[in-house]
Amino acid sequence: MTLSLNCKDAGDPVCTHTMYGETEEELIENAKKHGIEVHGYTEESFKEEIAKNLEHFRQAIKTS
Ligand SMILES: [Zn+2]
Repeated sequence: MTLSLNCKDAGDPVCTHTMYGETEEELIENAKKHGIEVHGYTEESFKEEIAKNLEHFRQAIKTS
């Protein structure tokens, strides 16, 4: 099973990058890398963002 999360579904207004992972942890780890590289997050600010919006992130995750 592969989990995927589209940046736009996660709340970004323009970015349509899709992140993948075998588990939710792996997906969030990949999303963190993308967030740091592309959206200017730091480890800390991304962690805060995830903590604040975890339910929203979970709803945006697709499985295939
Ligand atoms: Zn993005």
